[in-house]
Parts: sequence; structure tokens; C-alpha cells
Amino acid sequence: AGPNKKLGVALCGLGKLSTDQIAPALQKTQHCRLAGIVTGSSGKVDTWRKKYNLPARSVYTYDTMHRMADNDDIDIVYVVTPNALHLEHTVAAAKAGKHVFCEKPLEISVERCQQMIDACKAADRMLGTAYRCRFEPHHLEGIRIAREQELGPVRIIEAGFGIDVGAADQWRVKRALSGGGALMDVGIYALQATRYLTGEEPVLVSATETKTDPVKFAEVDETVTWTAQFPSGANAYCTASFKVGGIKNFRATADRGWFELDPAYYYGGIKGMRSDGKPLSFPQVDMFAAELDDFARCVLEKRPTVVSGEEGMQDVKIMSAIYESIRTGRAVKI
Ligand code: NDP
Repeated sequence: AGPNKKLGVALCGLGKLSTDQIAPALQKTQHCRLAGIVTGSSGKVDTWRKKYNLPARSVYTYDTMHRMADNDDIDIVYVVTPNALHLEHTVAAAKAGKHVFCEKPLEISVERCQQMIDACKAADRMLGTAYRCRFEPHHLEGIRIAREQELGPVRIIEAGFGIDVGAADQWRVKRALSGGGALMDVGIYALQATRYLTGEEPVLVSATETKTDPVKFAEVDETVTWTAQFPSGANAYCTASFKVGGIKNFRATADRGWFELDPAYYYGGIKGMRSDGKPLSFPQVDMFAAELDDFARCVLEKRPTVVSGEEGMQDVKIMSAIYESIRTGRAVKI
């Protein structure tokens, strides 16, 4: 494979994200093309085949995806199913000899993440976690400002992401498929931001949960707030919510000023501000196209991705500590 080769990507799970974001983004990539689908809904097949000109041999169900082993058109499987199915679908793809790019959160427990990492390692395939913000220019500039200490060392990060999650019958509020609520689904963006801005791992977390709708959120967390201490002395104050849709930012305060993204985590319209009035503004990019092109380049050039399986597992580990803090009412050392 030359460096200009386009890698074939099979989308596994044709829900909202695959349909509205990832499939259109694949058309804009330099190094990828949509080459196959894995779906449990036979009713979706015709539409997808017509729209994206897919051959019958590249259409699979979750039960037949092992047959991809014979299909050279597919290099990468992008797993876009509910969180607790990521392990099963990743293992199947890796056993079929495919690289795996997997939606966040990587899985619902550290043990399950480790099994995904092990399966990809055993098959000598790459595993990536779909953290799209890591390829977004405003976020990259934030990382640069923080790491180069352009405004001095970062001391405080406030970060939060909330959505009104909607219907009570969806997998996001069912623990067996989601593994958790607001924290696992959207809080992970704020958690990621605190880690990539500081370039450090939190050593202590402390958290509480508020439930105003104990029926809808009987199985998962509704609104979580947590604090985290980092080795340098930086502190993070974070929020995740399935009820309060207005939070979507981070602000990093350093010794000589602050910078902020708001909105930080939406699919587009990312806006930045700095206390010194200097611009924090870049052209908007399609983050899904950017993350896919990066992963394809890593595969083609045989180099590691910044959004590795280990990186995905680390957030699951910290979220587990946050849940432990909520359960025990104590700060938890990591
Ligand atoms: P949807 O519910 O819209 O789609 C999930 C799809 O998974 C379904 O349409 C279905 O596809 C398949 N599926 C297989 N088994 C099940 C099952 N038991 N129950 C429900 N669906 C099943 O979810 P999203 O597309 O919003 O989310 C999918 C993943 O993407 C999640 O891990 C989520 O966290 C992540 N995500 C990431 C975002 C980001 O910005 N990076 C944004 C939104 C979601 P089929 O009918 O083809 O089998």
C-alpha cells in the first residue's frame, strides 16, 4: 500500500452518528472510503447500498462480520454501536484481520477495554478511540497554549458538557448498554479536555451526582460534577449532564490570563477566546473526516495514534474512579 492509497472503512452500526456524521464525513476524507456496512437492520441495507454504491459482498450483520476476513476491500472497521457492544464488535473485526476505530467511550469497564486492546494486539491490528476533538484546530491551539505555558502554567480548568438526552426508552439511559449516563456519554469530553490540556493524569477525583428525574435516570447518572487534582497542582472543575443542555465549554486559567472554547464540543461552530484579546480562531473542519484521515495515515505509515486504545481505556479508568467517589462519598486516589 502506497501512502496515497485510500483505505476501505466498514461502518459497524448504522445509527444516528453513522448516518448523519460519519458516512458524509467519509466522502470528504483523503485517505478513506466507505467500503462496507455491518448492520442488524436489514431494512437499512438498500438505502445505504444505493446511496454509497456498496457491493452486496460488503454488507454484513453482526453475526457474519467474521467473513470480512476474505474481503480485501475493507481495511478498517469503525465501531459505532452502543457502548457495551464495542468489545464484541471490536474482537470480531480484529479476528477478521481488520484495524479498528471505535467510538467513545471505548467500553464500559477497564477490563473490557483491556480485552479490546489485547484482541487487536493479538491480531497485529491497530485500535483507535474516536476522540474527534483531538484533531480540531481550536483544541490543538489550546493544547499548544497550555503546554508551551504561553500564559504561564495552567492552574484551573473548568469544563462541562451537557445535553438534554431526550427519550427515556433509548440505550443511553439503560445501564446494560451504556455503562453509565451523562458522565460516560458527554462528561468524557470534559475529562479528555482536562487531560490533553494539562498533558497530565489526575491523581485524585471527588464527585457528586444530582438526580431530579429518578424515573428516567433510574439506571444511570443524570448530572455529575467532579473535581480533579493533577500532579503539577492544576485543578479541574467539571460537569456532565443529561438534563442541562447549555454547558459545552472549557476555560483554562493560567498565571497571566485564560483561554476558553465555547462551544467546545459541538460538531461545528467551535469558538475560542483569550483574555489578552489575541485571536483563537481557525477555519471549521469536519472533525470526523480529520480523525479518520489521521487514523488511516497511522495505519499506512505504521505509526501509533494519539487516540490509542490505551488512551480510551485511561478515561474509562478515571470515570470508574469518579463513579466510585459518587458511591462512597469520598475522594478517590487514582
Ligand atoms: P444510535 O442509537 O443512533 O445508533 C446505534 C446503532 O447501533 C443502532 O442504530 C444499531 O444499528 C446498532 N445497534 C446494534 N445493537 C443495538 C442495540 N442492542 N441497541 C441499539 N442499537 C444497536 O446511537 P449513536 O449513533 O448516537 O451512538 C453510537 C456510538 O457512537 C455510541 O458509542 C456513542 O457514544 C457514540 N457517539 C459519539 C459521538 C461523537 O461525537 N463522537 C456522538 C454520538 C454518539 P443497526 O440498526 O445498523 O444495527
